[in-house]
Amino acid sequence: MALRQIRKNDDPILRTPCKEVKEVNSKIREILNDMADTMYNTGNGAGLAGNQVGLLKRLVVIDMGDGLIKLVNPKIIAQSGEQDCIEGCLSFPGRWGRTKRPAKVTVEALDENGKPFRIEGEGDMAKCLCHELDHLDGKVFVDQVTEWLDI
Ligand code: ZN
Repeated sequence: MALRQIRKNDDPILRTPCKEVKEVNSKIREILNDMADTMYNTGNGAGLAGNQVGLLKRLVVIDMGDGLIKLVNPKIIAQSGEQDCIEGCLSFPGRWGRTKRPAKVTVEALDENGKPFRIEGEGDMAKCLCHELDHLDGKVFVDQVTEWLDI
């Protein structure tokens, strides 16, 4: 297990788009495991994207309480509806705000063995998938907040 440093606030890498992973090899699997360890180590993280740990690779880990999901090169292939969310981010500690996200999304990705799979998310899972996939494009939730909350 290896923890990686979480990049925060004005670190420019958070605003930098990540690159497609060309080959899902043992190095990528090691990075995904490190990202999961780093996320769990925070105690309150539900997701982490590559550039949040300083790596410009299209990698995401998510655990919304139903187990760990590892995504390589994830893409939203369908979305519907709209929901009001309250969002925070491991890269912006202590900041919470209201956002709008699709109510439902379908994401296509490769698993840690390079095999394609799809995941459908509704509610909080849809919010989390959108938040993490935005990170890969260099987008951060603070730019989408409609109202900051004092939590
Ligand atoms: Zn985030």
